[in-house]
Amino acid sequence: TIGKLFEQTVAKFGKKEALVDRPRGIRWTYQEWNNEVNKLANTLLATGVRKGDRVSTFLFNSYELGTVYFAAAKIGAIINPINFRLKADEVSYILHDAEPKIVLFEHALEPQITKIHDQFPSVSFWSIDESPPAFASSYHENVKSASTTQPMTEVFESDTYAIMYTSGTTGRPKGVMHRHRDMIEHSLICISSLTMSTSDIGLVTAPMFHCAELHCCFLPRVHVGAKNVIIHHFDAKEVLHTIKDEGITSFFAAPTMWNMLLQENLELYDLTSLELGLYGAAPMAPVLVNACKEKLGIELVQAYGMTEMGPAITFLGKDEQLSKAGSAGRACFNHEVRVVKPNENGPSEPEDILPPGEVGEIIVKGPAMMIGYFNRKEASEEALYKGWYHSGDLGYLDKDGFLFVADRVDDMVISGGENVYPREVEDALYEHEGILDVAVLGEPDELWGEKVIAVVVKKDQNVTAEDLENFCKHSEKLAPYKRPRRYVFVDQLPRNASGKIQKFLLREDLKNQEVK
Ligand code: AMP
Ligand code: MG
Repeated sequence: TIGKLFEQTVAKFGKKEALVDRPRGIRWTYQEWNNEVNKLANTLLATGVRKGDRVSTFLFNSYELGTVYFAAAKIGAIINPINFRLKADEVSYILHDAEPKIVLFEHALEPQITKIHDQFPSVSFWSIDESPPAFASSYHENVKSASTTQPMTEVFESDTYAIMYTSGTTGRPKGVMHRHRDMIEHSLICISSLTMSTSDIGLVTAPMFHCAELHCCFLPRVHVGAKNVIIHHFDAKEVLHTIKDEGITSFFAAPTMWNMLLQENLELYDLTSLELGLYGAAPMAPVLVNACKEKLGIELVQAYGMTEMGPAITFLGKDEQLSKAGSAGRACFNHEVRVVKPNENGPSEPEDILPPGEVGEIIVKGPAMMIGYFNRKEASEEALYKGWYHSGDLGYLDKDGFLFVADRVDDMVISGGENVYPREVEDALYEHEGILDVAVLGEPDELWGEKVIAVVVKKDQNVTAEDLENFCKHSEKLAPYKRPRRYVFVDQLPRNASGKIQKFLLREDLKNQEVK
């Protein structure tokens, strides 16, 4: 179980520095951290939280979140980390679905909780602030005098350990359920694939409520007795300072975060401690991967996956970034990846395997596959049809088994009967020096059915639509039908907390805009 994993690390590395929360000024060894975990676990038990009960968190990246995580695991309670960017109604939706016993919330997020707490009369709200609002109690006050002894709850490896709500770029979020043993196996896969070790010092800057940070980095580091250094949010300057101050050796960041780091004056920072940079959760243009190598001096590893799978499914190694540019890599240990013929009337058939090079739906099997969506029997059966997780992502495998992720089924553009994968056009446009960020999508068109348009954030303010049109005309990477027919310039692209462009929001914005 995750609780046993933590105890084993404490037994082996008790005196080693384990957890640093920079903004809150905390530096704990594994032994000190374990004392706090036990205090909280005992307090939760005393409050009536039992095995199988949900404990929800609405917290920034913090030592408190790291502590609840293991405290809940030790007593068999199910951790439910909620995205700290969600608005009151979105949080309310999740709380109605997850029905937790307790919600721990961040002081700065109190306004959202204030709006909704009275919908949940039987839920205890704990604020991590010293002076909580009237409807809540103080986390720190509650645990202050609790015992540091190990709680005695019996937890099994097949018990559910977490419910994580997917970002839901389409429809309402669904609660993905994972078991203890599956996450441990997932952790071992990350440790071996990313050669993680006790001497690692990892920076936690991507959101901990998301599985990419939590399951590919934070948990495996605890597993091997390495150190996690937490900052509350991503901030490019703070990341660069922290790397230098703490001697950070590895961290995960979404492509958009890497892009933000590249915009800084990098000569000011000593980044020589860095050994491993990870990216994933969204596609990253090969030019940006190369820029990280040149300017940050770091070769990146890519992870592709999704919450439902733990998340990791494939890794693209450092030495494969050039030879397999644009690929998401090969299946992780103990994983199977297939590309099958999409079925418009239901889940695709796992046996309809497509030959190398042909684009279809990516389906996968692996040890950390979710056991299902909480309260969603039908959606679970459809997603896990015949034992394969149906990702809804389009892509193809090459002859060497490398996966190329094209786009979500819903994002593909069909122009004049030709399929255009927005990602291909985005990758080509990123090569233009004047572009900072870009999203490509389809727009209804009388003649072509759909036409390709590009929404661009400028790096160089002098760039015009004509410049970009010329650039695409001369690009060897874009057939004429893939070229954007319209350019829209914006200050920023809407992205969710894990760095994915929210194309449905862009589409709405564009509908309300005049054609230029
Ligand atoms: P989530 O469960 O919120 O992490 O979302 C999973 C989705 O993110 C996948 O189904 C993909 O559409 C996308 N995604 C994750 N990793 C990558 C990657 N390396 N390249 C492209 N898309 C990705
Ligand atoms: Mg998803």
